[in-house]
Amino acid sequence: NLSDRLERSFKILKGEGKITEINVAETLKDVRRALLDADVNYKVAKQFTDTVKAKALGMDVLTSVKPGQLMVKIVHDELATLMGGEAVDVQISGNPAIILMSGLQGSGKTTFSGKLANLMKNKRSKKPLLVAGDVYRPAAIEQLKVLGEQIQVPVYTEEGNKNPVQIAQNAIKQARQDGNDLVIIDTAGRLAIDEQMMQEIKAIKDAVNPQEILFVVDSMTGQDAVNTAKEFNDRLDFTGVVLTKLDGDTRGGAALSIRTVVNKPIKFVGTGEKMEALDVFHPARMADRILGMGDIVSLVERAQEQYDEEEAKRLQKKIAKNQFDFNDFISQIQQIKKMGNLKELASMIPGVGKAIKDMDIDDNAFKSIEAIIYSMTPKERTNPEILNGSRRQRIATGSGTSIQEVNRLIKQFDETRKMMRMVTQAKNPARMMRGIK
Ligand code: GDP
Ligand code: MG
Repeated sequence: NLSDRLERSFKILKGEGKITEINVAETLKDVRRALLDADVNYKVAKQFTDTVKAKALGMDVLTSVKPGQLMVKIVHDELATLMGGEAVDVQISGNPAIILMSGLQGSGKTTFSGKLANLMKNKRSKKPLLVAGDVYRPAAIEQLKVLGEQIQVPVYTEEGNKNPVQIAQNAIKQARQDGNDLVIIDTAGRLAIDEQMMQEIKAIKDAVNPQEILFVVDSMTGQDAVNTAKEFNDRLDFTGVVLTKLDGDTRGGAALSIRTVVNKPIKFVGTGEKMEALDVFHPARMADRILGMGDIVSLVERAQEQYDEEEAKRLQKKIAKNQFDFNDFISQIQQIKKMGNLKELASMIPGVGKAIKDMDIDDNAFKSIEAIIYSMTPKERTNPEILNGSRRQRIATGSGTSIQEVNRLIKQFDETRKMMRMVTQAKNPARMMRGIK
């Protein structure tokens, strides 16, 4: 599998501290091949590996992680980012809110309409009305009725009426009368892109002005899914994608391709025929699936945690001996900056959490602190006790800050030190310091 291949191609890198041009090229070939295996569109795969290359080059490799593994993590995270990063919810504002289904025949529109109604009713306290807009096949209307009965959601039908625009408009009137706050319109698909189908669904869109137009696509259709998605999006400018039939052994490459080509969020995935078999789309999980290697990613994450733990242990010793100094202080700040997501992480870092507690934490938060510390001599950094008035004035001038700022930092540093000593004398210092309860 891909993770093995990546590690193999990184063997040569052992002992080197950085990811370099040569080993990246070899690896990215493997990544591209894996993406193609997972049904990712060729152009998308190429574009993707270019991005990953730019990210990976020059990246520091943690001592406890093999470069190949780190590379997998980079690929994974980039996949997740490309697929939207966060899950995107459906818009259910408006009274009634209107959601229109689109997609080819057999993609799973009718099934998904039922699932969505079920979810909205049970989890969001909505009162949905399902609308049978597939007027060409009597069986399709019957299918929706059966689903509606099963989930206890009303289904609006007009037997004999072959005009889906009228049906949709009438259904919305009915919904207003009956107090249904959500109208889900199922529509007819064709086996392939078809002009009449497109005109029809466009006409429904123009007539009812839905908040959401969801494009439903069978994830097993692989490459074709991209072309279909593009055609539908060009005509409808849909608001989101639903990937169905992910319960099989499809690898989900369509998710990445569609997202990249039409740049619309994937909102749900269907994972079975039952009404409950519906998940909100999670980019990170889909990235796992495309790579087929959830373990590697968590392994790298664990290794990164360990790295912090080793650093924490080293610091603990220094603190116990009251040797924590400004060098440690600044190296901790650098740790935090590297990790990102500062607010959450800062409190976990020994020696820094308290000092920055009252600050507005953003990327600039450390600038003046760093400037002040860098303006100290090495001797001052390791022996903060010697920082008298004239030294402080010199540091303020050198760092472009004020004497007040320098005083404040030194005071915070002293307090931090004091607090840390107290903590190390507590029962379980390592855990307490890292903020683990
Ligand atoms: P439509 O023509 O777009 O309305 O598609 P349907 O909703 O009728 O679905 C076509 C077939 O796919 C039906 O047999 C469904 O039971 C099945 N189906 C739909 N969604 C899923 C899914 O997420 N997983 C599986 N395994 N089958 C699904
Ligand atoms: Mg149908």
